[in-house]
Amino acid sequence: MDNMNKFAELGLSESSLLAISTKGFEEPSPIQKMTIPLLIQNEKDIVGQAQTGTGKTAAFGLPIMDMIVEGSGQVQALILTPTRELAIQVAEEMSSFRGGRKISVLPIYGGQSYNRQFSRLESGVEIIVGTPGRLIDHLKRGTLDLSHLKFMVLDEADEMLNMGFIDDVEFILSKTPAEKRFLLFSATMPKRIVQLAENFMSEYEVVKVDSTQLTVDLTDQIYFEVRASDKFEALCRIIDVEPEFYALVFCRTKLKVDHLANALLDRGNDAAALHGDVSQAQRERILDSFKRKRVNILVATDVAARGIDIDDLTHVLNYSIPQDPESYVHRIGRTGRAGKLGTAITFITPSEYRQLMQIQHFSNSEIRKETLPKIKDLIKIKRERIVAEIKEVIDQDDYHDNMHVANELLEGFPPDMIIAALLTHAYKDEFSTDRYTEITDPRSQRQSRSTRQNQPDDYSPDQEGITRLFIALGRKDDINAQKLVNFIRQEAMVDPNHIRNIQVFDNFSFANVPFQEAEHIINTFRGKGRDKKPLIVAAKPKNDNDEKSQRSAPPKRKQKTRRSKKR
Ligand code: AMP
Repeated sequence: MDNMNKFAELGLSESSLLAISTKGFEEPSPIQKMTIPLLIQNEKDIVGQAQTGTGKTAAFGLPIMDMIVEGSGQVQALILTPTRELAIQVAEEMSSFRGGRKISVLPIYGGQSYNRQFSRLESGVEIIVGTPGRLIDHLKRGTLDLSHLKFMVLDEADEMLNMGFIDDVEFILSKTPAEKRFLLFSATMPKRIVQLAENFMSEYEVVKVDSTQLTVDLTDQIYFEVRASDKFEALCRIIDVEPEFYALVFCRTKLKVDHLANALLDRGNDAAALHGDVSQAQRERILDSFKRKRVNILVATDVAARGIDIDDLTHVLNYSIPQDPESYVHRIGRTGRAGKLGTAITFITPSEYRQLMQIQHFSNSEIRKETLPKIKDLIKIKRERIVAEIKEVIDQDDYHDNMHVANELLEGFPPDMIIAALLTHAYKDEFSTDRYTEITDPRSQRQSRSTRQNQPDDYSPDQEGITRLFIALGRKDDINAQKLVNFIRQEAMVDPNHIRNIQVFDNFSFANVPFQEAEHIINTFRGKGRDKKPLIVAAKPKNDNDEKSQRSAPPKRKQKTRRSKKR
């Protein structure tokens, strides 16, 4: 199967195909299949209805890369995003599509140093990804020239509206040349967004990925929130706690599939990888081993998993969150079949929470949050399981062949010593805590003292119930109370009614939030301020002796994993 052809058929250039293959994409996503040819083949504007995670950045980004002049130093594409986080993410994704071309991508957002932005703009960039406030600032100062603009992209238009940025968007649009192409993407299409398209677009096409609703009654659906770096450990714990784990594990790209299958094999699990680069003969062999349960974990991409027809899987595990609700329903439909109850597990990082909520909403599913088993519970469960297995051998009278060895051993040693030695021999480090690493609570604010040492600005919030937050954004960043509430709500998914007593000054702001929310908010904005500093911290208390004593605490050592070939 030459999947690259599927991207080539859309009309993309060699450089773009190279970028796609480096990223390990196997097949264009639905929004890509629809948008890429339209962008390349005609001149019309586009309104795309697509949720986060559907691959919309590549849908507009790859054709844009193909159609701008490299190395010109003129701004030819402007991508507007509602948040700085998204601006950084989109800029990174766009940069990854260069495929060797001399195209410079610059993220521009409030909170970042002006001087750095001035010098980058002066040295010449072809693509800018930015948030409205700071872009307007540059336009007013005359430091941003949009006269050569060929593409204007409005990403997450409905969020722009929710955050009160629509007037700003219109202002920026009014400063762009009339003959550019305007692309608008939005998960929902409120009237105001449709109006915006009608006011600023001449002829446009609507691209929409249809949502079909399927039911997945027999599948228990759960999710775990983990940091990306803890996903492997989380998977290992699930595998170890489930006695009959027989599962399809989904990753987004073939690189991730190979990487994960190898890591599982290294740990002594019976795993195999399946993706578009696997030959037909190999594929058949792997599927045969999987059907016979010689391999109990099959790691696959969505494309490769198509057509796999196995009824008694215990689990489907979304190691990477699926691209859209259809793909979620499709993946998890592989379990809970033939009247058997199956479990669908999805791993999400905190920033993917919104995407999971969209999947839950559009696929009409109920996805429950669960917590991962703790190391001590895992060891206890494994011990109990082994004791039960030994009892079963005794019950079934299935030990007589070894009686003479047992008697021989009993002549030399006490029985408890022999049994303990046998368990060590048979199970090696199976009961050792070294098999596991600590998992960090992805939302925890209370960090170990060692990490706090390095983040002196990130003081932990007060315990009294209400926390006063200091926010490193002010009027100069085009922030007012409403925008601030919307921004915090959008990024940290907190109830806007809980954000009170807001005071906005020129360079910074204050707001009160309940202690519980403060923990999460501060965590969400860690590293998002200037020079990777926290954007939001708890306002400093008058007496900070306690904090100082905490900062001098010795660093805690992290547990080391020991890998074993044998489980
Ligand atoms: P987006 O919706 O643009 O934010 O994309 C979400 C994620 O999907 C990003 O990590 C992309 O790199 C990834 N992605 C985009 N297109 C594909 C594809 N065709 N196959 C696999 N992953 C993709």
